Amino acid sequence: MPKTSNNHNTEVVSTSDFIREQINKDLVSGSVTKVVTRFPPEPNGFLHLGHAKSICLNFTIAAEYDGQCNLRFDDTNPVKEDQLFIEAIKEDVKWLGFSWAGEPKYASDNFELLYEWACHLIRTGKAYVDDLTADEIRDYRGTLTVPGTESPHRNRTADENLELFDQMRDGHYENGTKVLRAKIDMASGNINLRDPVIYRILHSSHPRTGEKWCIYPTYDFAHGQTDSIEFISHSLCTLEFADHRPLYDWFIENLPVPSRPHQYEFSRLNISHTVLSKRRLTQLVTEGFVAGWDDPRMPTIAGLRRRGVPSDAIRFFINELAISKSEGMVEQAMLDSAIRENLNDNSLRRMGVLKPLKIIIENYPDNHLEEMEVPNHPGKPELGSRKVRFGRELWIEQDDFMEDPPRKFFRLGPGREVRLRCAYFITCREVIKNSSGEVVELRCTYDPDTRGGNAPDGRKVRGTIHWVAVDAAVNAEVRLYSHLFNSETPGQERDYLEDINKNSLEILNNCKIEQSITDLKPGSPAVQFERLGYFCPDTSSNQNDLVLNRTISLRDSWAKINQ
Ligand code: ATP
Ligand code: MG
Repeated sequence: MPKTSNNHNTEVVSTSDFIREQINKDLVSGSVTKVVTRFPPEPNGFLHLGHAKSICLNFTIAAEYDGQCNLRFDDTNPVKEDQLFIEAIKEDVKWLGFSWAGEPKYASDNFELLYEWACHLIRTGKAYVDDLTADEIRDYRGTLTVPGTESPHRNRTADENLELFDQMRDGHYENGTKVLRAKIDMASGNINLRDPVIYRILHSSHPRTGEKWCIYPTYDFAHGQTDSIEFISHSLCTLEFADHRPLYDWFIENLPVPSRPHQYEFSRLNISHTVLSKRRLTQLVTEGFVAGWDDPRMPTIAGLRRRGVPSDAIRFFINELAISKSEGMVEQAMLDSAIRENLNDNSLRRMGVLKPLKIIIENYPDNHLEEMEVPNHPGKPELGSRKVRFGRELWIEQDDFMEDPPRKFFRLGPGREVRLRCAYFITCREVIKNSSGEVVELRCTYDPDTRGGNAPDGRKVRGTIHWVAVDAAVNAEVRLYSHLFNSETPGQERDYLEDINKNSLEILNNCKIEQSITDLKPGSPAVQFERLGYFCPDTSSNQNDLVLNRTISLRDSWAKINQ
C-alpha cells in the first residue's frame, strides 16, 4: 500500500474508498493521531462472510495506518449469548489471519461504568424509569409519519428514578416490568430518538458476569460508549446503523466519556444463493435444516473452513469487494472463482474415483506390482511426484465409459483406446452387464509399450482418464455440496425457507481413492482429484472411516481436459 507523508508527520494511505479518504482527512487535519478500529461482534452466533468483510476492513485499515484493531464482544444480551460463540469467533478471526490488539475486549467489562453513566443521565434529567410494557412502548412510539406519545412516567423526578433504577439493579422487579429510557424526543423524525430503552431487566446469567447483574444495557446504549472507552477513532459499521448514529452521538454528547468516536457506515455484503443474516442462520441450525454452524454448506467461516476453503481465498475475495454505500449483491460464482484460483495454484493433485466401474486388463500379468510416477502438480515440478500403485484390476469413473458414445465423447467405449493418466493406453474389448442390463465391468487390454502415456509409434488417443488400482484403493464417503438455496435471493418472492435447495448435499458412499489420501488429516489443505474438483477430509473423518468434503468442483469438469 503506497504511503505518503503529510504535515503532521503521519502516514497517509492512498485513497481507495470513502473510509480511507476520511481517515486521511482526519490525519491531515490532526483531529486523529492514531487510527484505532475494532471488530465488534455480538456473541450470539458464528461469524459469516458478511462479518469477514467487516473483519478484513477493520484489521487491514488498522495495519495500513500503523494503528490498532480491537476484537470487542458487544455482549449485552445474555439471553442469546454463549461462551461457545465467543470461542468460535476468536478462532475464526485468528484463522482468517488477523491478530487483535492485546486481550479481547468485552462491553461487559464496562457494565459498572455504563451503569454509572445511566445514573448520570438520570441525575441530569435525561433518563427515566418507565413502567409501560414492551407492547405499550411500541404503541406509544408512533410511526414514521405519526409522532410518538409521551409515557405517563416520563416526568418522574431524578430521585424517584434513581431509587427505582437501584431497585431494578437489586432484583426487585420481574423481567419486562420496568425499563430505563433515555429522555430525548418522542416527536423526533428519527424513531431511534423517541426515548429509546437503555436498560432492561433480564434475570439471566451472563457468560462473563454470571449472576452479578439482572439489568443489562441495550446494545445501543453500550456500543458507542464502549467505542469511546476504547478510544476508537473510526467506528466502522454497516448501513443499517446510520439511523442509530444520531442516538450514539447524543449519548456521547450527554455523558462524561473519555473520547469522541465517529461512526462511518458502509454497505453490507450480500451473496447470491445464500443468506447472511444471523437470525436466519440461527434458524437453519436450530431447526435442523443444516447439520450445525459449521455445516460445509453454511456461509459461515467455520463452515467454509470445514469445507476446505483456504482463508487466503476468503481474504482475496473480500479484498476485491468495493467498500461503498451502495447495496448490491455479489454472485456466489465470484467467491467460487477465488477459491478455485487459490486451490488450482496450491493444491496437490491426487486421483480418486467417485462412481467406480471396474476394469480388468486381461493381458496384464497376474500379481504384478508396478508403481507409476505421478506429478503432484502439473504446473509446479518443485512440488515433486509420488508413486501410485497400478494393477490388473482398476477402478475408473462410470462417466468415463459409454457403450454407445456420441461423436464428441473421447473417453472409453467398446473397441476404443484411451490413456490412463501417467500409465498405459488401454482398449476396451468387452462389456460385462448384470441381469438388469447395467454395465458392471469392462474387459480391456493394455499396450505395454505405452508406459508413461505415449506410444512409440506416435499413435494418438483423444482421451485421458484417471484410475485407482483395486488393490491399493482406499474406500471413502464423499460429500458433494451445492448451493444451499435455489433462489439467487432467498426470501425475495416467498418465505426464504421455501427457497432451500433440498439437494444441496449428495453423499457418495463407495468412492475409491489412491492410498496417499490417508496422509491427510482433518484440517489438511484440500487436494485436487484430477478432473473432478478439490476435496479435503471432513472433521468427522478418521483412519477407519474416511469422509471427504468436496470443497469445490473444477470449472469445466469434463469438457476441456478430455480433448
Ligand atoms: P446479522 O445482521 O447477520 O444478524 P449482526 O450485524 O447482528 O449480524 P454482529 O455480530 O453485531 O452481527 O456484527 C458484527 C459486525 O459485523 C458489525 O459491525 C456489523 O455491521 C458487521 N456485519 C454484519 N453483517 C455484515 C455483512 N453482511 N456485511 C458486512 N458487515 C457485516
Ligand atoms: Mg449487530
